[in-house]
Amino acid sequence: MAEYKRPTTEAEFAANFHPKKPLMSDTEAYYESSRCLYCYDAPCITACPTGIDIPTFIRQINNDNKDGAAKTIYDSNWMGHACGNVCPTEELCEGACVYNHQDVKPIEIGRLQAHATDKVIRSKKKLFITGKPTGKKVAVIGAGPAGVSCACELRMLGHAVDIYEAREKPSGLCVYGVAPYKLTNEEAVDEIAYLQEQFGFNVHYKKPVTGRAELDKLEKDYDAIFIGIGLGGTSALGIPGEDKKGVMGALEFVEELRNKHHATPVGNKVIVLGGGNTAMDAASESCRMGAESVTISYRRGPEEMGAYSFEFDLAKKSGSKALFNVTPVEVLGNGSVTGVKFIRNKAAYGKIEEIPGSEFVEPCDMVLLGTGQGKQVELLKLVSGLTLDQKGRIVVNENYQVDNPKYFAAGDAMNGGVEVVNAAAEAKRAAHGIDQYLKK
Ligand SMILES: Cc1cc2nc3c(=O)[nH]c(=O)nc-3n(C[C@H](O)[C@H](O)[C@H](O)COP(=O)(O)OP(=O)(O)OC[C@H]3O[C@@H](n4cnc5c(N)ncnc54)[C@H](O)[C@@H]3O)c2cc1C
Ligand code: SF4
Repeated sequence: MAEYKRPTTEAEFAANFHPKKPLMSDTEAYYESSRCLYCYDAPCITACPTGIDIPTFIRQINNDNKDGAAKTIYDSNWMGHACGNVCPTEELCEGACVYNHQDVKPIEIGRLQAHATDKVIRSKKKLFITGKPTGKKVAVIGAGPAGVSCACELRMLGHAVDIYEAREKPSGLCVYGVAPYKLTNEEAVDEIAYLQEQFGFNVHYKKPVTGRAELDKLEKDYDAIFIGIGLGGTSALGIPGEDKKGVMGALEFVEELRNKHHATPVGNKVIVLGGGNTAMDAASESCRMGAESVTISYRRGPEEMGAYSFEFDLAKKSGSKALFNVTPVEVLGNGSVTGVKFIRNKAAYGKIEEIPGSEFVEPCDMVLLGTGQGKQVELLKLVSGLTLDQKGRIVVNENYQVDNPKYFAAGDAMNGGVEVVNAAAEAKRAAHGIDQYLKK
């Protein structure tokens, strides 16, 4: 189990947040690519939500054709570099690699992908020619993975694109959410700069779309509108004491960490409430920030956690402990948090039941709520004809078009929150839906 000293400088922060999948050298990439069997009906391709022709790009790396490899990747996935670093490859392409059946380490597809895309991003090599101008204009709301992927594909189809982004940087949760040991701010932003250079879409920063007047203007000025706004902030848990100093959303904590690095305040004893991937990230990151103890608490057993098992393993290896079958009932403290009162649960007929009299207090000076992100329902309700399902997700048809025909949507706002690769895959298909609509 790792023990991390509290980082006080940028160098110490970088050491604690050493990349999980460091960039490969040319020699490493040559060796690793030479192991690929170039399988017929390659299962790694089927396992990739964007269907990247993995054996082909690996063969191109092996033939020292890095530009060709990057082009193969980007042809399927405009977030090729981010995905090489942040994708849960253990569950997707690498998890499907045939080597797993022989108890041999699968091909490191993610690192090979990041190797090839890093080369072209740094060389700024022009790889793509945009489509013949159609004279149509599309507004994209949000410069996250969904918005940028949609913009790239629309430019390939010849449509002009303006992205309206609320914040001052692009890349959405790749900059504000994903763990810094997976992708740095520079890597995320550099990929978008590279794509913008290739495709010439415009991004208007600090331009949140918040009201009916802005939507009216977009509807008047553009032929179609794509919604790629992702989700909202961390949802409240709804227990007494949640407003005490030292309690914050896991997402907001990660966001602060991504921006302030070692200057981010972190408690000595941290309790993370929740069993999803964001909770695991917040726990791993608190450990790396030098917290003395980090405890993940979850209402059910470990097998029922929403997080990938490799993310839980990483949180444990980073130094986190876990409490299972416990429900938080109150955050304690006088102004600032001093502990969380829990009650123990038992499973009964698939449901959980609290065990009367089993309350106990776990002391802490920081609580991170990994309770999931809310939806931007208030904004979405302003779009006439747009339907939300019971979970607040945008309802779309097979072309990613909402009931108001001028609007399309993809990514977290539509799927409820999955991975970068899903946002990239859906947004590319949405661009084709928009293209069909504009051609009618
Ligand atoms: C803590 C955390 C860790 C994660 N880790 C991983 C990981 O390791 N690997 C992985 O693949 N996925 C991970 N994900 C999921 C992944 O980040 C998302 O699935 C992906 O970013 C979704 O892309 P998106 O474009 O739909 O939304 P977002 O990334 O949220 O982007 C939405 C963009 O829209 C902008 N926006 C929002 N509202 C407005 C508005 N009204 N007007 C204008 N702009 C607006 C936002 O500022 C943002 O830039 C993680 C998510 C979280 C929360
Ligand atoms: S399954 Fe593995 S060995 Fe086969 S093509 Fe894909 S990466 Fe190469």
